[in-house]
Amino acid sequence: MLKIKNYINGQLVEPQAGRYLDNVEPATGKVYSHVPDSEPSDVERAVVAAEQAFPSWSAMPAEERSQRMLKIADLIEARIDEFAKAETVDNGKPLALARAVDIPRAVKNFRFFATSILHSHSESHVTGGTAINYTLRQPRGIAGLISPWNLPLYLFSWKVAPAMATGNTTVAKPSEVTPMTAYMLSEICCEAGLPPGVLNVVHGLGAKVGAAITAHPKIMTISFTGGTVTGREVAKAAAPLFKKVSLEMGGKNPNIVFADADMDQALDNSVRAAFANQGQICLCGSRIFVEKSAFDSFVERFIRATKALKVGDPLEKGSDQGSLVSKAQFEKVGNYVNLAAEEGGEILCGGAPPPPVNDRCKDGYFFQPTAIVGLGTDCRVNQEEIFGPVATITPFETEDEVIDYANGTTYGLSASVWTQNLNRAHRFGERIDSGTIWVNCWLLRDLRVPFGGMKQSGLGREGGDEALRFFTEPKNVCIQT
Ligand code: NAP
Repeated sequence: MLKIKNYINGQLVEPQAGRYLDNVEPATGKVYSHVPDSEPSDVERAVVAAEQAFPSWSAMPAEERSQRMLKIADLIEARIDEFAKAETVDNGKPLALARAVDIPRAVKNFRFFATSILHSHSESHVTGGTAINYTLRQPRGIAGLISPWNLPLYLFSWKVAPAMATGNTTVAKPSEVTPMTAYMLSEICCEAGLPPGVLNVVHGLGAKVGAAITAHPKIMTISFTGGTVTGREVAKAAAPLFKKVSLEMGGKNPNIVFADADMDQALDNSVRAAFANQGQICLCGSRIFVEKSAFDSFVERFIRATKALKVGDPLEKGSDQGSLVSKAQFEKVGNYVNLAAEEGGEILCGGAPPPPVNDRCKDGYFFQPTAIVGLGTDCRVNQEEIFGPVATITPFETEDEVIDYANGTTYGLSASVWTQNLNRAHRFGERIDSGTIWVNCWLLRDLRVPFGGMKQSGLGREGGDEALRFFTEPKNVCIQT
């Protein structure tokens, strides 16, 4: 059975202690490979390699760094089908999704940041005839990058690419639940001739490897994506050392449908926003609010569309929904659905695992897409992030009321608003407390825009110039003229 290796100092290496964890294919519930159960000593080796690589990588002209990263992008693209299949086996997501979204986006992440460093500029300020100031933006050193399991290579590369592009070296930890494509990326970095130590990938548990990265005194930049509870631990570890930290965390995103919306468009996208990737996207619209006059017909059509989604073997063509990522996630979703019933909710569809989708997947972690009505907006199911295929639908009457509902959680990652009223769209853009507000769309991404969350969804922003700024240190040079 395949043993994934760490990637340290340009080499694929075993974890020093020789211990491994099982890696499960969630669609079958079976162990299919092993992932290093690394120790802080492995992180230490990676830090030494990153430290040695930093002087030459950071001094390399941007064009040369760019070329190496473009080579990585080309090599991933050349193996796109292999990567997509690996992501599906590791994560449970439909193959079509991995092929159309996850892997192409990883390729784009490398290309985007490899080319943006060729066009970036820094500021200068002329001080009234007495001085000229200019801002140097220099790489910060070793960046620690920690990513989750829901969009494995997509989010891993979203951190690795800007960190490397700006001249930092990196120690990165993918989720131990979905390590495979980060391992394949390590192989590609070897093939692309990336200088040793620029990217180091240390696999293993968050509590050991992640914690060793966040606590390491030589890793002064931390970019983390994951749950809010973990983000708090990362912030606690980083604070005493005054590390620069970017935290991308959970969400409980409102999806607001007004009666004047293009209802076909609002419906299709509300279903997609609720259930894409089995509801395991931080940006999923899990709280749907529908204007009262349109509520009954919306619910009826939403249920029909949800029931039409095919839950199936993620490797089979035609499966709209694959399996959840793990047994733990499967149990968590089931517990929340039970809680919804206790809290007075009416489960209109789903609410349980489907019958076995086929023989291969009879022990997999499948759950039917579930829609619930009749819950109060303050109940736990409407307040806590479930991160699974569960959406609640709630009626509203006025703009003020639905703004209160939308803003009435501790999260503030994203929101969608469906309306033909342009003034209302602007009002919602201003009044909703979230890092992204989509109007008449969902998950429409432009890699240049600031991406991140407010409140307990995030600290700092990724994407475009924000990422280039995060991974660099601005220094002002003031010259008297
Ligand atoms: P998680 O449990 O918080 O884990 C995220 C990463 O942190 C994993 O690599 C994890 O390792 C590691 N980790 C765990 N404990 C750690 C510690 N004490 N110190 C340092 N690192 C530690 O999140 P997840 O369950 O993988 O992902 C789901 C969550 O991510 C959801 O809340 C979702 O909303 C959020 N998310 C947010 C965004 C965004 O952009 N805002 C995007 C995607 C996902 P292990 O896997 O080994 O535990």
